[in-house]
Amino acid sequence: MRISVIGTGYVGLVTGTCLAETGNEVVCVDINEQKVQKMRNGEVPIYEPHLDVLFDRNIKAGRLTFSTSLEEGLEHGEIIFLALPTPEDEDGSADLSYVLGVADDIGKRITEYKVIVDKSTVPVGTAEKVQEVIAKNAKCDFDVVSNPEFLREGFAVDDFLKPERIVVGSSSQRATELMEKLYKPFVRSGNPIIIMDEKSAELTKYAANSFLAAKITFMNEIANYCEKVGADVDKVRRGMGTDSRIGKRFLFPGIGYGGSCFPKDVKALHKSGKDVDYDFQILDSVIKVNQKQKTALLPKIKTYFDNDLDDKTFAVWGLAFKPETDDIREAPALYLIDELLNAGAKVKAFDPEAMDNVKRKYEDRIQFSKTMYEALDNTDALIICTEWSIFRTPDFKKIKDSLKENVIFDGRNLYDISDVEKEGVSYFSIGRKDII
Ligand code: NAD
Repeated sequence: MRISVIGTGYVGLVTGTCLAETGNEVVCVDINEQKVQKMRNGEVPIYEPHLDVLFDRNIKAGRLTFSTSLEEGLEHGEIIFLALPTPEDEDGSADLSYVLGVADDIGKRITEYKVIVDKSTVPVGTAEKVQEVIAKNAKCDFDVVSNPEFLREGFAVDDFLKPERIVVGSSSQRATELMEKLYKPFVRSGNPIIIMDEKSAELTKYAANSFLAAKITFMNEIANYCEKVGADVDKVRRGMGTDSRIGKRFLFPGIGYGGSCFPKDVKALHKSGKDVDYDFQILDSVIKVNQKQKTALLPKIKTYFDNDLDDKTFAVWGLAFKPETDDIREAPALYLIDELLNAGAKVKAFDPEAMDNVKRKYEDRIQFSKTMYEALDNTDALIICTEWSIFRTPDFKKIKDSLKENVIFDGRNLYDISDVEKEGVSYFSIGRKDII
């Protein structure tokens, strides 16, 4: 099939590449000329495990090409995916200007039947709006389908190739059949393509992300309470997670969720509720608790250093909002770093993939290190913000020899309390006893 993908970020590029992998001819369109040039030169512009192999293979096979021209994309594809940003607007709602702007262009340019597929995360009613905007100018038939994306950064390729489910919101038989044909190779193991109306599909995505954000946040509150009463959240987590009604995943406490999805999606659903006079009380709490949780390590750091962080230098391991990505949007590490800088401290940071993105944002306000151990030189303490695998079994002797104060503040509970106790370092984590 001939496919076009408009917007080649984390979702668009993975979608385009994986659809090319099953034999489709894919044109990826982006307004960012530099990005398109990079991709034409064979460079993957984001870090996403396994993407490079598929990217390379499909470019070489001539199935995956790149363009800055929307016109070219519209001419090529019988199915047009919109994988455009829907960032948080000032009032918390999703900014639909990218999606509706491109929809307007589509209406003016299409000359034969197209299926316009909204892959961006959008509020209920957006498919209807896209339909109206295109219909203003369109001189041919078209259908608008809602097809929210559930891939996780860091596992995006695997998630796309083997989705647990595909949700398609469509009220057109013709469009539904095309979507089923396109996705058939991805559900050979029997996972479902769930067909529903557009509004329900749009809400499914927000409901799923908000539920997961609430699950994390619930566990963070349990962890905070554990600290007050002397319980150990690791033990509570294991005890809870073995209940199959609860499940083991998304129960790990830490310094809050971040990224380009959960924060904005929870806020957007909360705001959508307000718009129809519905008060999402749970989401209101999730937003507030998570905001506070991002700096949950700060009071511990301040107490340890007698409220005097002036001229202290902190090594920060992990900047990305989660491991296996270079994405720093809404990353808790950055909130904590801002607080440290505000308190007069200095920061030496290390992240396996996200440092270039942070450099662009912070320039020379913080130092960057080539290795995790180099970040420890001449620093007072170590702070861990992202659970990258390489931080999980560090050389504690090296840590102790490098740090001025023998102390680790761990926002992701990477180490067993008993192991750290044996190493003889002071250790502060989330929802567990402090080792001083
Ligand atoms: P992104 O910011 O990484 O990429 C968006 C791309 O769109 C950029 O490359 C940008 O240059 C391009 N773009 C902007 N305006 C354009 C235009 N007029 N024409 C062509 N290209 C244009 O965004 P993303 O993370 O891929 O997210 C896209 C959508 O998918 C959002 O709605 C997001 O909420 C949703 N989503 C994201 C994830 C994720 O893990 N990142 C997962 C599921 C859903």
